[in-house]
Amino acid sequence: MSRWVYIDEITPETPMGLIAENLRKAREIAHGDSRVPEQLKHYLQKALDIAVGLDPYLDAMSTAKKIASLEGCQLKVAGVEPKVKPHKECASGYLKGQVLRLFVHMVGAKRILLIGRLKGCVILAMAEALPVDGRITACATEPYLGVKSQEASDYSSHVKQISVKVGPTAATLEELVAVGEHFDIVFIDAAQRNAVNDYNFVMDNHLLRMDGVICVENTLMKGQVYLENISDENVLAVRKLNNVINSDPRVEQKELVKDDVFWGYNRCHILDRLRLDGKVAYVTGGGQGIGRAFAHALGEAGAKVAIVDLVLAKAEVVAEELSLKGIKSIALAADVSKPEDVQRILDAIVARWGTVHIACNNAGINMNSASEDTSLEEWDKTFNVNLRGLFLCCQAAGRIMLKQGYGKIINTASMASLIVPHPQKQLAYNASKAGVVKLTQTLGTEWIDRGVRVNCISPGIVDTPLIHSEDLKPLVQRWLTDIPAGKLAQVTDLQAAVVYLASEASDYMTGHNLAIEGGQSLW
Ligand code: NAD
Repeated sequence: MSRWVYIDEITPETPMGLIAENLRKAREIAHGDSRVPEQLKHYLQKALDIAVGLDPYLDAMSTAKKIASLEGCQLKVAGVEPKVKPHKECASGYLKGQVLRLFVHMVGAKRILLIGRLKGCVILAMAEALPVDGRITACATEPYLGVKSQEASDYSSHVKQISVKVGPTAATLEELVAVGEHFDIVFIDAAQRNAVNDYNFVMDNHLLRMDGVICVENTLMKGQVYLENISDENVLAVRKLNNVINSDPRVEQKELVKDDVFWGYNRCHILDRLRLDGKVAYVTGGGQGIGRAFAHALGEAGAKVAIVDLVLAKAEVVAEELSLKGIKSIALAADVSKPEDVQRILDAIVARWGTVHIACNNAGINMNSASEDTSLEEWDKTFNVNLRGLFLCCQAAGRIMLKQGYGKIINTASMASLIVPHPQKQLAYNASKAGVVKLTQTLGTEWIDRGVRVNCISPGIVDTPLIHSEDLKPLVQRWLTDIPAGKLAQVTDLQAAVVYLASEASDYMTGHNLAIEGGQSLW
């Protein structure tokens, strides 16, 4: 009977292999004993057929595609005697390799830790499912992969992604903790010595990423682990490990609510939610002061940034600074109070980067005069830049954003929108900045249901060229007494706010006036 051929080929490594082996022995006895009823022999045969067929069938059906690493290895040695022939054992690793490769793929794993010895072909199969920047770290008490590393490199280009750390496992694990490693999958061979300690160390030291996967091999010990009256120390050790893992709340936190707060919204940790990768931003008045700091912050968070300024040379310097840091940037000249300039810069940004996601309308000027002396010219000039210019930018950027159903507008208002700063006299400035807040509130509520959030930042007194004018400079000491924080703001104090308002983390905030003024508006 051809089915019997399988028996000799099966290594009784799995419980099913053992069942098959025992059934085969029983069947031999039954066949040699005429007292055994034919019906019993028939049922024994049936059970044996099922047991014998399972493992080879799973192997055959699950591994239609041979593991490339092994094919690679055979190709490599075509016509030449290989240095290390692929093991017969490797063939039985196909299924395991495929299953683990599937895990790696499904988890989207980048970092894998192996504790205990795995067949080289299985490791290579996992490595093949890794992205190019993925890595497998294997703890080994002696060099392995079945081959020395030079020889292993003949097998697969993916060997480069495998780093074998030779030495006592405990020391290797400590080393990994010291360098702050976290793994997406940790693989532990239950049959190796100290598996419980290694497991506990991994979990206690967060080597396994919070939502990572732990894979434990050899947990059944050929079925002995669940049999009664077992005294074999190795089996008892594996049984203990199984119990430890099974009762460890860190593995399956069944009693905890696992919602967006636990995992992070969209599975993103809070700092990642502040990232602006792939976003296109512009900053008006980006050539110096607060605008320059905003441009750096948005760029550092991942956005491409257009620096817009009345003075092209200043914008170019900042754009150059950003490119030195590897941030994509362009410099554009514009007077924001002119509609044609505003449209031109938006057209230029869209032509360059396809769209605009983040509009930072920051350009502003400050002039000082007693209200009774404020000229119409000063009033118009201030309003033209601070309010009309800001409106033109909001409208032009807003049209693009409304069309795409997404956008973040961040206007620079001022603490002067909340209090009347003194002793300097700046009616037009204060009124224009109060206008910025009302404009922000209006747009913020009008556009939010179409995906566009509009907020503003109100800095206190910031140490920039704006306050170094002849009129304002002498007042610095006086202001300090009005500021609970006891010092002027630096432009860097405002950077996190603009990133927050530009990111999805602030999606529920709109029409808001975010004051960053060291407490000055409260005194
Ligand atoms: P700043 O004078 O240092 O820089 C302003 C930049 O805007 C300059 O590069 C300038 O060339 C540019 N600019 C001026 N008019 C422009 C126009 N019409 N079109 C395009 N660009 C123009 O000023 P800053 O301190 O960085 O202030 C930036 C914003 O912050 C302003 O809106 C200001 O009102 C506001 N603000 C400043 C302070 C402060 O204490 N510095 C406090 C609150 C609010």
